[in-house]
Amino acid sequence: MKRTLLLTFIILSIILCSCTQTNKESIKCSLDNNLFSVHFIDVGQGDSTLLISPDNKTMLIDAGDNSQGSKVADYLNNLNIKKIDILVGTHPDADHIGGLDYIIDNFDIGLFYMPNKAHNTNTFKDVLLAAKNKNLKINKAKSGMNFSLGKFIKCSILSPTKNYSDNNLCSLVIKSTYKNKSFLFTGDAEFENEQDMIKSNYNIKSNILKLGHHGSSSSTSEDFLLKVMPDIAVISCKYNNKYNHPSEKILTLLKKYNIPLYRTDKQGDIVLLCDGYEIFSYKKPLTLYRR
Ligand SMILES: [Zn+2]
Repeated sequence: MKRTLLLTFIILSIILCSCTQTNKESIKCSLDNNLFSVHFIDVGQGDSTLLISPDNKTMLIDAGDNSQGSKVADYLNNLNIKKIDILVGTHPDADHIGGLDYIIDNFDIGLFYMPNKAHNTNTFKDVLLAAKNKNLKINKAKSGMNFSLGKFIKCSILSPTKNYSDNNLCSLVIKSTYKNKSFLFTGDAEFENEQDMIKSNYNIKSNILKLGHHGSSSSTSEDFLLKVMPDIAVISCKYNNKYNHPSEKILTLLKKYNIPLYRTDKQGDIVLLCDGYEIFSYKKPLTLYRR
């Protein structure tokens, strides 16, 4: 009964905010309501996901490519965020870590996690330099590690389970749980990682799945999708990108299992709100699985 009343209050607050304010203002408003919010920021062809715990601790997973650091910073500033408590670079590819140096330069950073994988690019070196200039330690993360975001959000790293030479295969896969609901963030993890996670007996079942590698056909095997069995899928990519993400094959797979889909290329920033028992959003998921 208490929970129903709280949920009604939250939904009413959101509706009231939505009626009188812009979308961004209503998101700000919802942040005061003890919700866990997950923001898939539209960074074109790349990933950047912001998590805000009910006690207002922040985690940023990736920051898009080099051109997107200032856009991610604007998004954070708009929400009055001064500190990133946990910063994650999932793997050294530019469409994930390109904007990280800008974020490190312009915000207070608590903990910083990256996989144990170096890369010989200026983008990667820029991140190392930005961290060094701030005396920010880079914690090398791998599967089996657990940490909390604030008091309420439990995070587990599920991949990589071993060392790989390929960048995508080194992607940190993070499962974040708030009470009864969980979110799986997969970076650019591929089939091989999915099989390794299944074999490792991790509990990969999650309510929300950010599809690996922008909906590429080399990620999200049917086997993996059935084990995660998400209520909702999210794809982060640029409209009409040169890689043809998301692939037709993946869209057909989602359609086969009737999994509602959010896409940053078609819907811009996507914000999911969670009270620990329900997940809701200001935007409706797509019902047509078309490229
Ligand atoms: Zn990528």
